[in-house]
Order: sequence, then C-alpha cells, then structure tokens
Amino acid sequence: MRIKQIWSREILDSRGLPTVSTTLQLDDGSTATGKVPSGASTGKTEVLELRDNDLKRYRGQGVLDAVSNVNDLLAPKLVNKEFLSQESFDQYLIDLDGTEFKTNFGGNTILSLSIAFAKASALSKGVPLYEYFGKLYWREGFKKELLELPEPLILVIEGGSHGNWVTDIQEYMIVPRKVKFPTFADALRAGSEIYHTIHDVLKEKGYTANTGFEGAFAPNQLKSNEEAFEIIIEGIEKAGYKVDKEIYLAVDIAAAEFFDTSTKKYILKSEKKTFTEQEWIDYLDKLFSKYPVHIVEDPMDQENWEGWSKITKRLGQSKEIVGDDLLTTNVKRIQKAKEINAVNSVLIKPNQIGTITETMRAMRVSEEFGYSCILSHRSGETNDSTISDLVVGSYAQKCKFGAPNRGERIEKYNRLMEIEKRF
Ligand code: PEP
Ligand code: MG
Repeated sequence: MRIKQIWSREILDSRGLPTVSTTLQLDDGSTATGKVPSGASTGKTEVLELRDNDLKRYRGQGVLDAVSNVNDLLAPKLVNKEFLSQESFDQYLIDLDGTEFKTNFGGNTILSLSIAFAKASALSKGVPLYEYFGKLYWREGFKKELLELPEPLILVIEGGSHGNWVTDIQEYMIVPRKVKFPTFADALRAGSEIYHTIHDVLKEKGYTANTGFEGAFAPNQLKSNEEAFEIIIEGIEKAGYKVDKEIYLAVDIAAAEFFDTSTKKYILKSEKKTFTEQEWIDYLDKLFSKYPVHIVEDPMDQENWEGWSKITKRLGQSKEIVGDDLLTTNVKRIQKAKEINAVNSVLIKPNQIGTITETMRAMRVSEEFGYSCILSHRSGETNDSTISDLVVGSYAQKCKFGAPNRGERIEKYNRLMEIEKRF
C-alpha cells in the first residue's frame, strides 16, 4: 500500500485539551483519521506525550510540535513510500524515532499515524477494522470465530484525580457477567439501567450528581471509599439485578496517586488514614471480602514491585490483579512482572506504548503468560472508536470504556453494539 497524502492538525479532547488528529490517504483513495487520547493519572514509564510547553497557548498543553512533526518531518518521508503491512509501517516509525520512549517525535504523534494507517488499510482491503486487527493479532491462525464481544467494566462512580478526589479510589465499575448477559447490548443495557438507578439513589440521599472526566458520578458528599460501594450495591439491587451473581464489581485504585514515596505509606486523603504496605494489603483484602470486587487495577504503587507480588500472592487466586501504571503496555515490564508474579492481568492502552504493532505485542506476551487483558480508554478521549474494534479483534476479552454517559465514551459502546449486529 503506497501512501499518497498525510496531514495532521490540533483538535481538542473530551477535557477540552489539545490532542493530535492525523489523516492518511493511500494511493487507492482509502482515507482515514486517527485521533489520540490522553491520560491524567499516567504511568511514569509511558512513551512521551509531546506537548509544546508554550505557556501562551492552552497553558502549555498545545500539540503544534507534534502536528509539525507529522506534517513537516514524517509526511515527506512517508508519502510515496510503499508499506506491505501494519508491522512494517509501525516499525519504520519506531526506527525513525530511534528512542525507547518515543522522545524524538512523541508517542502521540506516532500513534496518530499508526491508527490512521490501520483504518485506511482496512478500508483499502474492504474488511471491517475489527477483522483487520484480528488478522494482525492471530496471523495465519485467524478465523472469524475468534472475534468476540468483550465483557464491559462500566464506570459508575469516580474519584481521585478524575473526580475531584471525592474518593481516593479512582474508579468504581460494575461488570455484567457474560454468562448472564450473553449479548453485549444486554450487558450495556443493564449497565445503563444501574447507572441511572445510582443517580436516583444519590438524589434520595440529597447528594449531588455531578460527573468526572469519564462520565461517572463524583458526588462531593461521599464520606468514605466504602460508602461508594454501598451506593453501588443499592443501585444494582434497586435496578432489579442480583449482586455478584449477575453483576460483580471492579475497581481502579490508581494507588500511585496517593502513595507517599518518601514515607512509603498509602494515604487515604478522604478518610485521613495512613497505611504501611502490609496494613494496606490487609485493608484491601478485608474490603474485597465485604464487597464482590473481582477485578483490582493498580492496588499498589507503580514502583512497589514487591508489594505487587505480595498482593497477587494473597488475592490472585480469586481476583484479577491488573497492572496499568505498573506495566504501561510495555513488553519488558510485563516480562518483569512475570518473573516475580506481580500481576495476573494487564491493562492495555495503545497510547502508553505508541503503535498498534507494539500494543499487539503486549497482548501476545500477556496471552503467552496466561494473563488476561483489559483494553482501556484514557480519561481524555475523542470520538475515535478504534479501541472498540481492537478489543473485538484481539486476545483482550474485557473493556474499560467509562460510564454510559458523555459522547466520547458512548461512541465506543455504540460501535461495539454495531459490531455485534454485523456478526
Ligand atoms: C486509568 O488510570 O486507568 C485511566 C483510564 O486514567 P488515565 O487515562 O487518566 O490514565
Ligand atoms: Mg488505571
């Protein structure tokens, strides 16, 4: 596939902050756009998100340098060049950048191109994007039966840096069990009904129903991290669903956001409590035996590897212990986690690593280790729904795409329902 044209521009994400949008045209006319998301509670080992740091524009958050990297530096090298595969296109960019964390061109710059190339290639081949990804992931082993809709982790309450610190735990999610909700549309319907019932529960309590970055409720009046669980359980029951049997819970603790690196303590700001590593693990164990939480993301700080091994040893038999900030979709870090049994599940975010090909590699290594994969959005999103196709066309069997609220989250859920209808 020969590249005919590439052009990039600065757009805004769902938080009103600049991000990169790149359009790529192949010589058969197939044209597609890749828009990249952006995190707020980012892992320290993510690839570089290139920002201008020009305080006169968007308080330093502009991405004109990234846009110029595409238009002025990379486009002249890519236009008229022929690429036979996604791997060769992505590898060309990785080699041109030449740095481990994409500090030359920026991970956001490179990912916008990688997504645009994937979408344009799928168009050119006349296949849906999820099938294009499926063929990339499974290669010769691809068959249509491998394409599967995910079990969604649907966000209902958010705190931490996404939700004005109303709770220390960043994300509270409900998960309609796939065995009970065999179609994605039914799982989403249950999620939406419970989300709206939680709204009623909050109103009855006289709480505000304001929302955070990802569309979930962030009521200022919550008194503790536990109260959020109580409200969710009430919402599930009032909506007419069976807690745990039909709907179980997942959390993203995002512990790096409240770990004090100097004292090595975990500090719950909302409850004014401080924990040593051991006390923290004991606290979480108790919390998760009280509420049906079966998926636990980032329970420990991203540099506290031994703490991760301890919690996985303690809870890993019955729960998915998911590395996000710890692993940053990075094969080397997933391998390190395997050596010390630090996790049994991996959060996958394409913009943590910067290309579709490397995202696929992270999933392949996770599969080889027997780890589950959860495909995830970022707190700053666009209406690009590539990750919906990616979760269907890969090993990842779960998705974390936010609340059933806000256009940029709904676009991804709607795309999944559309894919389900095409099967
Ligand atoms: C997360 O931590 O899993 C997340 C989606 O947040 P962010 O995009 O802010 O890193
Ligand atoms: Mg996370």
